[in-house]
Amino acid sequence: MDKITVGILAVQGAFAEHECTLHALGVRHFQIRQKRDLKRPMDALILPGGESTVMGKLLYELDLFEEIRRRILDGLPVMGTCAGLILLAREVEGHSAYLGTMDIRVKRNAYGRQLGSFYTEQDFKGVGPVPMPFIRAPYITKVMGQGEILAKADGKIVAARQGYQLAMAFHPEVSGDLRIHQYFLEKLVDK
Ligand code: GLN
Repeated sequence: MDKITVGILAVQGAFAEHECTLHALGVRHFQIRQKRDLKRPMDALILPGGESTVMGKLLYELDLFEEIRRRILDGLPVMGTCAGLILLAREVEGHSAYLGTMDIRVKRNAYGRQLGSFYTEQDFKGVGPVPMPFIRAPYITKVMGQGEILAKADGKIVAARQGYQLAMAFHPEVSGDLRIHQYFLEKLVDK
């Protein structure tokens, strides 16, 4: 794990929390803010939470969209949290897809106003029970193709994996628990 370098998309949203988590794990990382940042060697990518519509727009405006999409399709391990999950989904209910590299269908702001943000602890396959903070979260309405369900909360799918792509509706980076990032780095990145 000490040889891994992770690029974190840092155009909007909760990227700083991912930086803190990787720092705590002693994993090298850097911010992706503009096209030239993509020239740096990177073993994995994190797409943080935030506002998927804004991030999607910025990916185009900053001319990052195509290259990031191509790199993921070429096999770059990726972890998306919350809005990052929405960016990865092949289908976004009521909206066109963004990167669309993962065979999942997602519903944005899926818990309605009352349950917009909440906290729970649920089992995450391969890790065990983990803290799950949800912030105006989506959930996954369908996992297709090679996708595998990793966690459910209240009967809804909240985490899935498809090979080297990992996505979750909650925010492991704000929980202080390092195990989801560890899982990503050990199981999807470190060979
Ligand atoms: N509601 C946001 C969206 O639709 C996601 C929220 C988050 O990332 N915490 O993009």
